[in-house]
Amino acid sequence: MTAMPDFPHLWSYLIAWLSDHAVVPLLALLHVNGLAGDPRQIAEALLIAAVQVSIIGLVFRPLESWVPAEHWSDRRLTRVDRNYTLLMLLGIFPLFTYLVLTPFSHLFGGTDANTSSSSPLAISHLIPWFNHHPLLLFLFYYVIYDFVYYWMHRTQHAIPWWWALHSMHHSQRQMSCWTNDRGSLVDGFIQSMILAVVGLVIGVQPDEFAWLMLLGELAQNFSHANVRIGFGRAFERVFVDPKFHRLHHMLVDPQRPSLHNCNYGQVFTVWDVLFGTALYGEAPRPTGVGDPIVDADNNYGLIGLHWAALKRFWGAVWCRAGWIPGEVAFGEDYRPVPVSQLDLHTFVHAAPMDTAAEAAPPPVHAASGEEVPG
Ligand SMILES: [Zn+2]
Ligand SMILES: [Zn+2]
Repeated sequence: MTAMPDFPHLWSYLIAWLSDHAVVPLLALLHVNGLAGDPRQIAEALLIAAVQVSIIGLVFRPLESWVPAEHWSDRRLTRVDRNYTLLMLLGIFPLFTYLVLTPFSHLFGGTDANTSSSSPLAISHLIPWFNHHPLLLFLFYYVIYDFVYYWMHRTQHAIPWWWALHSMHHSQRQMSCWTNDRGSLVDGFIQSMILAVVGLVIGVQPDEFAWLMLLGELAQNFSHANVRIGFGRAFERVFVDPKFHRLHHMLVDPQRPSLHNCNYGQVFTVWDVLFGTALYGEAPRPTGVGDPIVDADNNYGLIGLHWAALKRFWGAVWCRAGWIPGEVAFGEDYRPVPVSQLDLHTFVHAAPMDTAAEAAPPPVHAASGEEVPG
């Protein structure tokens, strides 16, 4: 055993070192030290982010060049997503954890690592057997977390004011390994609050939560990658692969207007299979949104993207139509308009891929079962 490198020890050492030499001096410089959580949490979030960025850059990105799902003559539109990912992972997210999430978890009775949760609904209280099987407990947490994510994601598409924000994630025409973190900060805030509350209720410890998040994030970075990779007939029925999530991002097809309402799962596909939203067997289709007001996102940089999403949100949240579930587009005044009142043929625009929608085998929509000749 002594020859084995001691990873937990090395990890704590790296955290302490980074905290003392970079995080604490930086917090002092920003005058936010001592405000909230432990600076070591920022250090840990930064290290986890470094692991994540390395895996994206060293594995997922090369795979995109090697086995692309779409051939692009340039990757111009992916740049904004890459810059945004780096800013989120190395700046916004660690600070958000420190200033908001940790104080929030303490406020609602969250506990420090190594003590048991005070939530009466903590899984380890309800089923003490799990205390002796930490890996299974972690897996169980994950299943619950993913189930909540699935329904949250369906709501993001169904409620117009939420779609106003979530549509920023979908407006990307060149979906790549960097696209996962593209999303309105307001949307990100709502999502992380919901997931943090679930984590608190089921008794996930803060340090476990960080790893839970990393696993989910990595799976999503991969499922957004522009790669021609599927997990095969058996595994694709359980886990989300890049083929599966690419279909969630497909452009609306006027001939089959409900085809794109599919594949909402984050890591497990079982929820889509169970609730009738799974779509398999369709060839890769161009990604993006048909709605010209949302598609205009592609003309903007980081600030412009956020500003456009906020304008849509503002237009939707203050009117009745913004709260009525259903698929919408946005008018020039940023108010939501049900797509049932629009001609979807006007939504078709030139996609940037060179191999758009090749001849596909007849797709099967688990929800509607519709099949249309090519
Ligand atoms: Zn979505
Ligand atoms: Zn996505």
